[in-house]
Amino acid sequence: MSQLLLIHPPVTKPGQPPTGIPRLQHCLTDHGVTCTSIDANLEGLLFLLTSADNIPRRASATPEQNLEYLRNGTAFASINRYTKSIREINRVLSDAGKMRGWRLSLSDINHQSCSPVRSQDLIDQSTHPENNPFFTYYRDILIPKIAYLNPKTIGLSIVYLSQALCAFALIGMLRLHFPDKKIILGGGLVSSWMSNPEWENPFKDLEVDCVRGPGEDYLLNLFNKTMKPDRSGISDFSDFSLDQYLSPGFVLPYSTSSGCYWKKCRFCPETHENQPYKSIPPEQVGKDLEASINGNNPVLIHLIDNAIPPTTLRYFVDHPLNVSWYGHVRFEKDMEDPDFCHALHESGCRMLQLGLESGNQNVLGQMNKGVILENATRILTNLTHAGIGTYVYFLFGTPYESLDDARITVEYILKHRDLIRWISPAIFNLPRFSPEAISLNTRMFYKGDLALYLDFEHPKGWHRNEVRDFFGKEFKAHPEIKKILRHTPPVFTSNHAPFFLG
Ligand code: SF4
Repeated sequence: MSQLLLIHPPVTKPGQPPTGIPRLQHCLTDHGVTCTSIDANLEGLLFLLTSADNIPRRASATPEQNLEYLRNGTAFASINRYTKSIREINRVLSDAGKMRGWRLSLSDINHQSCSPVRSQDLIDQSTHPENNPFFTYYRDILIPKIAYLNPKTIGLSIVYLSQALCAFALIGMLRLHFPDKKIILGGGLVSSWMSNPEWENPFKDLEVDCVRGPGEDYLLNLFNKTMKPDRSGISDFSDFSLDQYLSPGFVLPYSTSSGCYWKKCRFCPETHENQPYKSIPPEQVGKDLEASINGNNPVLIHLIDNAIPPTTLRYFVDHPLNVSWYGHVRFEKDMEDPDFCHALHESGCRMLQLGLESGNQNVLGQMNKGVILENATRILTNLTHAGIGTYVYFLFGTPYESLDDARITVEYILKHRDLIRWISPAIFNLPRFSPEAISLNTRMFYKGDLALYLDFEHPKGWHRNEVRDFFGKEFKAHPEIKKILRHTPPVFTSNHAPFFLG
């Protein structure tokens, strides 16, 4: 019997294990709490794919074959080959989810009338779990497993909006089969809900507790344990089927920090949700990664920090990891030195994700990005010359940007086409509880007490519909931009991009 069971509910991209629950499992086990984890996302998706009755017409391979192509690397021979496998898998999932108005893929699930930002819709999911596409997996596989493990407490980690509807369908089944067990909800999405200054738990009738933040302290307290002073960031993957994830080898997720050391960008939820910033000392990061590499033999390390701290990057330069790695960084001074970028590459760095957001210095200044465009260009040059793939993020439609500004960004991308390996463009969403939301004329996108974003009257008259038009008809339709976007691996995007670097 386990004291605690941690579950990662569907739907998230199944390319690597989740980050939160293996880390919690290590921490709790280390403090003497018996703990088990289940990745219900991976299990549920594989259940639907391998039990599908009909293979879509014109499919070149069975779902099992396509899953294998992703695992053994065959699908990564070219972006066209890869796209074909992903499309065929998604078509099977789409058929499996079609019943009763669901749209299901490898990265998301939607319902035609239920919204994950309305607490009443989530509660309705718990009342009628039989309507959820994962119901059969829950009933035949997951619930019997939980009955066997018989934990006192069950924790659900809801990191993304795409998990909320299926998590609540699962809660309904847990309440039906195990009415006496304690249920706790945590994870990034739950923390964001709770950052609403007027937050009141709308799920009290389901008898679930919500936890904000990383969760270790809350859970240790629950089991009357005191946190040991030396905290590593190591994870326990012993309950995860590492060879079943859809990547060519094990991708090890690890975070060297939580929160953001910059925390000043005006458009970013990190800035106003005010989650504390914590980083693991670089020497401890080195020890954790060495232990994880020896224990699990990863082909790639995914550093999932919002921004890897410069001190940790310097540590990697002096202590190479001997395994390829990638992650998000800010445009920091160190990288203006070509030798530093070469040393980063030597340390195993294969790809860096960088939020540039705009190609206009004036807009960057108003965003409080702390980025000088000229220096950013130098860094992109150095990284490219060092052989590090650059995955650059751009944001359109912020209150600081006009259509002319956005066109300057397009010019920047085209001019520096050779320095930008991949782009991730997005339309800006205004965080609902940000200081900006107070100073702008805002309205709800849709009715939803759990909505995290607002529509707003654009101060420069560049309203959302026009931003959408620009984004779809001008930006994405530009032949050169199209060429860059065509390189982006569909569904898994940056998670699988490093596998195309050769
Ligand atoms: S650096 Fe990134 S995570 Fe940090 S505040 Fe800016 S956008 Fe947010």
